[in-house]
Amino acid sequence: MSAQEIEQSATERREALKEVFTQARGCTRCPELAATRKTVVFGAGNADADLMFVGEAPGASEDEQGIPFVGRAGKLLEQLLEEIGLARSEVFIANVLKCRPPGNRDPQPVEIDNCQDYLHRQVELIQPHVICTLGNFSTKLLRGDPTGITRLHGQPEVLTLGRRAVRLYPIYHPAAALYTPRMLETLREDFTRLPELLALGPPEQQPLSEAPAMEAEEMVQTPEVVPAEAQGQAPEIDQLGLF
Ligand code: URA
Repeated sequence: MSAQEIEQSATERREALKEVFTQARGCTRCPELAATRKTVVFGAGNADADLMFVGEAPGASEDEQGIPFVGRAGKLLEQLLEEIGLARSEVFIANVLKCRPPGNRDPQPVEIDNCQDYLHRQVELIQPHVICTLGNFSTKLLRGDPTGITRLHGQPEVLTLGRRAVRLYPIYHPAAALYTPRMLETLREDFTRLPELLALGPPEQQPLSEAPAMEAEEMVQTPEVVPAEAQGQAPEIDQLGLF
C-alpha cells in the first residue's frame, strides 16, 4: 500500500478529531482542573488548517465560552491575523492545557504532561504545515527543549512531531504583547513573515515506511472518559461544531 493510500482523508481526520474531543471532554487526569473548570476548551477552527496556533491555557472567558482566545489576547490575535489577510476560521487555535488553571496560574509540569497527548493528537490529525507557538509554554513543549521565546521568536525551524515534519514558528504570546508596546511591535513583525512561511508549503516528509516508529511513550493513550454529567458538571456547550 502506498503512503497516500494509508493517509486518512480530511473528513476522516476531522471525525477522528471529534472523537479525541469527546475523550478530552470527560478527562479527569488533572483532578484540580477537572473539578474547577466550567468547560474543556479543546480548540477551534479549521480541522484541515495549514496554520495552527498553540497558546498556553484557557483563561476565564475561554472557560466560560468553551472557545480558545476569545478575551483581549484573542482579539489581538484576530487583528494580527486580519492584518496578514487571514480569518480566524481559516486556522486552528489550541492550547497546551485544555482546562483553565484556577486563578490563571501557570500550567504545572504534571498538567502539561497529562494534557500533551491531546495536543499531539490534534497536530497528527490536523496536519498543519506551520505551527505557531505562542509564548514559552507551547514553544518549550513542542521543541522538547527549555530555550525561551525571547531567544527563539521569529525563527522558523522544521521539526518532526509524531510521524510528520512541520514548520515550527515561535512568536510572543499576544497576552504579553498587550502590555508591552515593544513586544507588540516585535510580534507584529514576526506575524508579517507568516505568509511567506505558509507559501513554502509543507516541509518534505519522510515516506511513512521510513518514518521512525513511535516510541511507546509517544503514542497517544486513550484516556479514561467520564461523561461531564457524571462528574456533576453541567453538560457542555455543543462545541463539536467548532471545527
Ligand atoms: N491565553 C492562552 O494562552 N490561551 C487562551 O485560550 C487564552 C489566553
